[in-house]
Amino acid sequence: MTPDEFRAAGHAMVDRIAAYLDSVGEQRIVPDIAPGDVYAALPPTAPTTTTDLDTLMADIDRVIIPNLSHWQHPGWFAYFPANTSYASILAELLSAGLGVQGMSWVTSPAATEVETLMCDWMLDLLDLPWSFRSDTATGGGVIQGSASEATLVAILAARWRATQGTVNDTGDTSRLVAYRTAQAHSSIDKGLRIAGIGEQRIRTVAHDADLAMDPADLARQMAADVDAGLQPFFVCSTHGTTSTLAMDPTAAIADAIDTVDGAGTHCVWLHVDAAMAGIAALDPDQRWVNDGVDRADSYCTNPHKWMGVNFDCTLFWTVDRHAMLGALSILPAYLRSAAADSGAIDYRDWQIPLGRRFRALKLLFVLRLDGVEPIIEMLRHHLRLANDLAARVAAHPRLEIAAPPRLGLVCLSHIDGDAATDALIEAVNASGRHLVTRTEVDGRSLLRVSIGARTTAAEHVDALWDDIHAHS
Ligand SMILES: *Cc1c(COP(=O)(O)O)cnc(C)c1O
Repeated sequence: MTPDEFRAAGHAMVDRIAAYLDSVGEQRIVPDIAPGDVYAALPPTAPTTTTDLDTLMADIDRVIIPNLSHWQHPGWFAYFPANTSYASILAELLSAGLGVQGMSWVTSPAATEVETLMCDWMLDLLDLPWSFRSDTATGGGVIQGSASEATLVAILAARWRATQGTVNDTGDTSRLVAYRTAQAHSSIDKGLRIAGIGEQRIRTVAHDADLAMDPADLARQMAADVDAGLQPFFVCSTHGTTSTLAMDPTAAIADAIDTVDGAGTHCVWLHVDAAMAGIAALDPDQRWVNDGVDRADSYCTNPHKWMGVNFDCTLFWTVDRHAMLGALSILPAYLRSAAADSGAIDYRDWQIPLGRRFRALKLLFVLRLDGVEPIIEMLRHHLRLANDLAARVAAHPRLEIAAPPRLGLVCLSHIDGDAATDALIEAVNASGRHLVTRTEVDGRSLLRVSIGARTTAAEHVDALWDDIHAHS
């Protein structure tokens, strides 16, 4: 492709993306196909001749677009939002075009420093603790690819601190114990598994009727483990669980940790996973989602869920940069630099991979081109829609609210029980106009309605409600 061909094709591509986003609401929201159908519709081997963009795009229109699950569809009430914005898409294009690798300051100074700045801007906008700021002696923020990676980094830092670094030599994790409730995200257990913490060292802490962690049970279990000669090292507090957006009580959890953690030794690492809900703190009325975060060792939230920043962009902060660097920094000769020696940030030491994308551009573009006000307006709009829906469910004779409604999420069930709830989910999704997901809480089946797509309007929630009502 020549530069001139790229110019023409690039303009055409932007037009196609705009047209897709304009009309995505007319697509069937998820395709009615079986695994293998897409693979079989494409040539089995790489082509021996090339084609032009129009021909390729005709195939995209034929085989790819109709077989996507359309996350940008206004009827997207499934899983969680992953909303995009034009500003963020442009930044993604620029990032690809610049093609830099930001693994260290010297491999791309601007990529590193814009990232540091974006973490500090976002800290301010979310009203998170000052101790996370990059210009403190011990804290700092970084953009990870996903909350799962952020959690793994937190676990590895915790493991390093609990063993005073010896884990790097011995690899011995056999005495370390981690705690979370059954409502915590699967990425916590996956991260622990990767870090060498076996199932027998992962404790399930009891939760209350609102699905929040019971700090008294946490204190009891940690004390029992200490008595058994084991070492509590990691607690995950979730602010907004995936199933129901339940909130663990972080301050009370920190108090429980203090009861076993010997005054001031701060050995047990408290991580707050606010991947979905944390972005709500952009709205001053929703700052309760930050309650207790000042007691945490690390915190993460995902602009790539509810802030109009397209995947991937997870914000991760810690107050213990030293432990994270102890766990993750390895300095081979080919990566040495005078800048690193003088204390410049090398973000490769703050994450799992070496190479890294220029993700900070997406936050820079969204905050400078759109600003934070329209995002707050979008969040408030989603909250109003969720409130209205929750009120309709509560007033319905055959439906019930199945978990306390929070932010953009409403969980409901049919009063006739799980089979009726499951049948309702299937009937509602059969229309192809919207998609909800099923979850299970304490063995009970729930229909989740997660409101957060950028273009979801009252009419889309009304259409969903019509279906829910008609099939219950
Ligand atoms: C979505 C979510 C995750 C996983 O996020 P990824 O960025 O996809 O890894 C983890 N925890 C919670 C609470 C979530 O909502």
